[in-house]
Amino acid sequence: MVTMFFKKAEKPPETRPLVIGPIQRLLTLSEPFVSPENPLGDIADALLVADVISGHILWLGPSAELPKTYHDAPRQGMVGHGFMMPGLVDCHTHPIFAGDRAQEFEARLAGKTYQQLAEEGGGIWHTVNQTRAASEAELRALAFDRCQQALRLGVTTLEAKSGYGLTLEDELKSLRVIKRLQEQEHDKLPMTIVPTVMAAHDVPKEYEGRTEEYVAHICDVILPAVASENLAVFHDVFCDAGYFSREQAKRVLEAGLALGMVPKLHAEEFTNQAATQLACELGAASADHLLCIDEVGLQALVASGGNTVPVLLPATAFFLGMTDYAPARRMLELGLPVALASDFNPGSSNCNNLLAVMAIACLQMRMPIDAVLRAVTVNAAKALRLEGSRGTLSVGKRADLVQFVARSPSQLLYDWAIPNPVSAVWVAGHRVHVNEAAFA
Ligand SMILES: [Zn+2]
Repeated sequence: MVTMFFKKAEKPPETRPLVIGPIQRLLTLSEPFVSPENPLGDIADALLVADVISGHILWLGPSAELPKTYHDAPRQGMVGHGFMMPGLVDCHTHPIFAGDRAQEFEARLAGKTYQQLAEEGGGIWHTVNQTRAASEAELRALAFDRCQQALRLGVTTLEAKSGYGLTLEDELKSLRVIKRLQEQEHDKLPMTIVPTVMAAHDVPKEYEGRTEEYVAHICDVILPAVASENLAVFHDVFCDAGYFSREQAKRVLEAGLALGMVPKLHAEEFTNQAATQLACELGAASADHLLCIDEVGLQALVASGGNTVPVLLPATAFFLGMTDYAPARRMLELGLPVALASDFNPGSSNCNNLLAVMAIACLQMRMPIDAVLRAVTVNAAKALRLEGSRGTLSVGKRADLVQFVARSPSQLLYDWAIPNPVSAVWVAGHRVHVNEAAFA
């Protein structure tokens, strides 16, 4: 008690409040505003107070209830009309690559499958060759543009995988691109980019017929080098027929876990390998794709209690011209925290637009609009283990916000093909993008 009495009063941390609003309609997706009648936690005529030093939310609520302490703080209004919500989270992308696969598009339309193209030396292999030939600076410039496009489309947090290098040197090169974008270009590209190593994206040609040896190379050489440079938060494996077996995926994921990286898994995309159960067993943050998931896999996700998030990537099925999608509605019935992501990559999902993915989720998987909004915010943040700071708006969370020109979420998705309905983006309380064209 004595020490407490004499303990010097700690200097309160310096804050610089900025009052954002009035906001016609603010979707908080958070307590105490969410209720059965108000599933997205809407506040009409709202204000949000951000601390522009720490980037956190200090207060939010109806304009009439703004605490006196903030009455004289600087204000920044909305940009035109519309609604605001948490910045979008794209929790599964592959943006570090050179070249494109436009030449395969026609071949696919003529009837060739993704797997046939890969067997003929195209597919991922085509992109691997181009990515290996590119310098780190070239890859960085390409990735910068792709991430900036995503930011302008409302994405404030983005997961980015390596996986087009497939050698020690080229995987490190790809992951250094992500690290340098965050460390050196953050002023120009102020989004959060979360790195994932995915050396087990495919078996490189030089290891053809020797998958086991490549798996050992990943476990013994690539992952330790990535960990020693602290280049990845997550690690991921493409577990499917013709790629990596369940047993091989397990070995890679266990090796990464031992190095402190959190597993993710490309699971049940083209075939069912019981990969979802493996993801849950290893405490993976997510199991992604899940087109071929069965009831056992679904129950494993239920039993994980939300620890392993199902991440659905419907733009991939759409871009590959598939007719079957992941069973999103069944997952929602089971109470699973379904997330959506773009899977942006040059081969199977040339779509860097999360808003288009949301529309595809509504139209092809019949996901209700409320569920779609949660899938690209709170649940996507959960798939990146960032739900403590992102994906919802409440006091203490980051003031990452997107404003749409639409009146409501349903109008946003109904108007799915308008070029860019984002009118402004805030990151950590700073307005980082204004799209004049949206509200002109
Ligand atoms: Zn992927």
